[in-house]
Amino acid sequence: MYQAFLLKYAEIGIKGKNRYKFENALCEQVRHRLGKIEGEFEVVREQGRIFVEARGDFDFDDAIDAMSRVFGVSSISPAEVIEEKDWDTLAEKVGDFVERQYPNPSFTFKVKSRRSDKSYPLTSPEICVEMGSYLLNRFENISVDVHEPQVYIWVEVREKAYVYSKVYAGACGMPLGTNGKAMLLLSGGIDSPVAGYMIAKRGVHIDAVYFHAPPYTSERAKQKVVDLAKLISRYTGPIRLHVVNFTDIQMYIYEQCPHEELTIIMRRYMMRIGETLAKENHCLGLITGESIGQVASQTMHSLAATNDVCELPVYRPLIGFDKQDIVDISEKINTYETSIQPYEDCCTIFVAKHPVTRPHVDVIRHSEKKLAEKIDQMVQEALDTVEVIQVDE
Ligand code: ATP
Ligand code: MG
Repeated sequence: MYQAFLLKYAEIGIKGKNRYKFENALCEQVRHRLGKIEGEFEVVREQGRIFVEARGDFDFDDAIDAMSRVFGVSSISPAEVIEEKDWDTLAEKVGDFVERQYPNPSFTFKVKSRRSDKSYPLTSPEICVEMGSYLLNRFENISVDVHEPQVYIWVEVREKAYVYSKVYAGACGMPLGTNGKAMLLLSGGIDSPVAGYMIAKRGVHIDAVYFHAPPYTSERAKQKVVDLAKLISRYTGPIRLHVVNFTDIQMYIYEQCPHEELTIIMRRYMMRIGETLAKENHCLGLITGESIGQVASQTMHSLAATNDVCELPVYRPLIGFDKQDIVDISEKINTYETSIQPYEDCCTIFVAKHPVTRPHVDVIRHSEKKLAEKIDQMVQEALDTVEVIQVDE
């Protein structure tokens, strides 16, 4: 029934002279997503919106699903294409369309129109008026409400004519690739996949790093992180997942440092290694799933102690979120079920009974001096043996 889609976007409309870059990035993302489903599509940019026209058969649900995951798109309207646009045919076909969309139509409505074919004999306001009265004549139980209509009927006259009425929600945000790249510290939990999704939604490409501690953490725990990366890549695009073997570093910290400081010192080494990988991969920042007060390692004191080792900005999009808000997003982006699978995390294995909740940066720095003998070499070893997994939806 539908042969075309009209995509609208919100925020990129405000980007002034750079606007065309955003629009091109958006078209590219739409093409990329549609390229993954069956069918052939033409994507064209036009005055504040994007037209997608299908060439031949395609699956409607797949197409809506693909386009609803493109950041920057605010809404998607499936449209019928009307090839003969002389007025009588156009009016009749728009009427047929209304009948198919709303069997036994009964609503208040308003016709909206746009005309890019300026040679068309009717102007946009005339199309609205004439189409409105045609529809009123044809259907008994509809009436016009220009202020708060229940239904909008859009008629666009371009080279061909297009009619649409229903609107599907887009992902909103900014098109990927318009805001650089960042390195996500991705664990198997609920929070970090959501954090990655939120930053990607602002147009940022994502790379990821996972700290793995075999044999304390299993292959299955690692696979869970790969699965999560795959799930978020449905939104973020392809992700290069760096798997760091963290076992020796963790054991060494465990042997040398006070156990109640273990988690903080471990987190500092994660940040240091994450930052080195970020710089090597041209990332402009780090992303974590931290949220104030959620656990001992996320008190204000602990966050300050963790942040102390970072030069790059650390983006913590969940910082002020309650757990339930985070869970809601993870359900929406379909990572929740995977996140709650019970596989061990390297942080939980070595966790102390009574971790410090108010670590003092100077005390932590002092404790780390006990690692001086071997730690640099171990960090280098961990960096030299990184496994890179290319993840895509
Ligand atoms: P999450 O649900 O994201 O695992 P969490 O509530 O379990 O978070 P922590 O375990 O304290 O919190 O981790 C805080 C953040 O540190 C995580 O959100 C993630 O960004 C990063 N992180 C923790 N463990 C790892 C790991 N094994 N590999 C990579 N990043 C990690
Ligand atoms: Mg965790």
